[in-house]
Amino acid sequence: MKIGCPTEIKPQEFRVGLMPTAAQEAVANGHEVVVQSGAGAGSGFTDDDYRAAGAVILDTAAEIFATADMIVKVKEPQAIERKMLREGQLLFTYLHLAPDPDQTHDLIASGCTAIAYETVTDAQGGLPLLAPMSEVAGRLAPQVGAWTLQKANGGRGVLMGGVPGVGPAKVMVIGGGVVGTHAARIAAGMGADVTVLDRSLPRMRYLDDAFGGVFKTGYSSAGYTAELLEQADMVIGAVLIPGAAAPKLVSRAQLSSMKAGAALVDVAIDQGGCFETSKATTHADPIYEVDGVMHYCVANMPGAVARTSTIALGNATMPFMLALANKGWRKACEDDPHLLNGLNVHAGKLTYYAVGEALGLDV
Ligand code: NAD
Repeated sequence: MKIGCPTEIKPQEFRVGLMPTAAQEAVANGHEVVVQSGAGAGSGFTDDDYRAAGAVILDTAAEIFATADMIVKVKEPQAIERKMLREGQLLFTYLHLAPDPDQTHDLIASGCTAIAYETVTDAQGGLPLLAPMSEVAGRLAPQVGAWTLQKANGGRGVLMGGVPGVGPAKVMVIGGGVVGTHAARIAAGMGADVTVLDRSLPRMRYLDDAFGGVFKTGYSSAGYTAELLEQADMVIGAVLIPGAAAPKLVSRAQLSSMKAGAALVDVAIDQGGCFETSKATTHADPIYEVDGVMHYCVANMPGAVARTSTIALGNATMPFMLALANKGWRKACEDDPHLLNGLNVHAGKLTYYAVGEALGLDV
């Protein structure tokens, strides 16, 4: 199979769909790999890195789309890319079709077969191609929160770990899933005093077993959240209710009960945010202040550490990419029902029920 990897063209996207080690594995499995010149630059991979892996470098996206049997990307194809997709071509990338009717119609019209990273599942009921980005965002959250807490950035001027004779920052993490667990680990590792709130008792039992002593757990009731909010130097929002907008767990009125210069890091902003005062920001201008409280609400946090994110995503996508290339999409999906769950569009038809329901389309 010929596998093609174009340069990402969505603004502020520095990741790349195929890292050199994945290209090398594909070549070792007998496939041809074509990569657009400069595709890896944002993640620190040069054209020569890809050549050394056995890939062929092509100048333009048009050449990649024209020759490849399978296109491997990161972000959903942009309008100009969708025009280049053709019947029978396989597309493997994040799609997020439910809120995007234009993209959905274009993919259906193209006749391509599109497998979405975000709907591939695993045997534990998780989403293995979303989890790496939650891990990255979770681990990044205390890092950006600590920066936000610095005086020059409008913060309270508190050091996460304190120093001998001065206590550590108090951090509340709301939501103890993938993001929250990784955020809590890093915040605790920086020396902060960390409490994770969740509503799932099985999840809190797991966290207590795995991390007891490193951070505390608490039940996410309105009353307990309000109590911790008054003491917090940093609050990390990491809740998710699958398929729904994030619940608003901190109101604007509550900000006045917080310490001046405290930091709110709303990782759940991509689902609308879990603080009433959250609005999406960008890496170029990430923080703003409301009622004396600093907010960090970047919707694509993993982009800040593109190299780590590319490798983390590539490690997760590689086995699926190889299965698709080695067996063809049909046999690969027959053999693996979790990969089949990724199938969103095939041969002019929508094939994913939840997207059809969201957009009022036949599946
Ligand atoms: P997850 O499903 O692993 O965890 C969510 C947790 O929230 C679960 O443990 C759940 O029990 C808990 N929860 C639900 N309602 C709650 C409530 N009222 N109070 C406390 N806890 C509650 O999800 P995840 O992978 O950790 O993702 C968390 C959020 O981060 C999602 O909105 C995701 O889209 C977002 N995210 C954002 C970025 C970014 O760049 N901003 C990157 C990755 C993920």
